[in-house]
Amino acid sequence: MSYTLTFSIILFIFGACIGSFLNVCIFRIPEKKSIVFPGSFCPICKKSIPFYCNIPILSYLFLQGRCKHCKAPISIRYPLIEILTGIFPVLLFFKFGLTPSLFFWFCFICVLIVISLIDFDHQIIPDIISIPGIFIFASSPFFIPEMSFAAVLTGILTGGGILYTIAFLYFKLKNTEGMGGGDIKLLAMIGAATGIKGVLFTILTGSFLGSAAGLFAIIFIKGSNSQLKIPFGPYLSSGAILYIFFGEGLIQWYFQTMTGY
Ligand SMILES: [Zn+2]
Repeated sequence: MSYTLTFSIILFIFGACIGSFLNVCIFRIPEKKSIVFPGSFCPICKKSIPFYCNIPILSYLFLQGRCKHCKAPISIRYPLIEILTGIFPVLLFFKFGLTPSLFFWFCFICVLIVISLIDFDHQIIPDIISIPGIFIFASSPFFIPEMSFAAVLTGILTGGGILYTIAFLYFKLKNTEGMGGGDIKLLAMIGAATGIKGVLFTILTGSFLGSAAGLFAIIFIKGSNSQLKIPFGPYLSSGAILYIFFGEGLIQWYFQTMTGY
């Protein structure tokens, strides 16, 4: 087997195992439970899941999507998140090679996956993830060649500041909270990792994706109202991930098209 293929397989398996852990985080962090103890257990019959039934993706197939003990169905989301988390290190490997950037962006994407799903489930972005995340991902200049501490600082201030202003104005205008404080801290975290360019790209792309999804919901899902709280975290996270892979290219293309050079 070629070097690239071997490495891709190893990275996928590694990522899928991490994805299995992310599932635990997504389930337990909003309930303020430990993410380490106890080991995995069935949420229905509470029986512990033996290690051989806890192999990412494969166990789901072997058990045909049911608990080994009580046969309660296991959500398809678990293996899907494992597959998704397995794919990212492979994509990052193709984009960045085996570099510190791969490691940094993979950690960042894992945190975004956890935040997105918790926001999707509960419409909250836990401070316990986003606030330490701002400090941890402020280390980006150590891993990402084009990042500087000036970019980190302006990124945090832009992410935190712009959204804070929008939320504040929205509150003044409508006297109701449109965007949660959680989104603001998430954008500050994205700013720490990707800098001012990344955070602006994320706000634009995330708003576009969020509006498209909102429009889709209004047209196709009856009974939706304008006061409906749409979790914004998944769209912002998608915007940030798009920036990692395509940001530089898209920004360059945009300015070349605009200026004609
Ligand atoms: Zn069970």
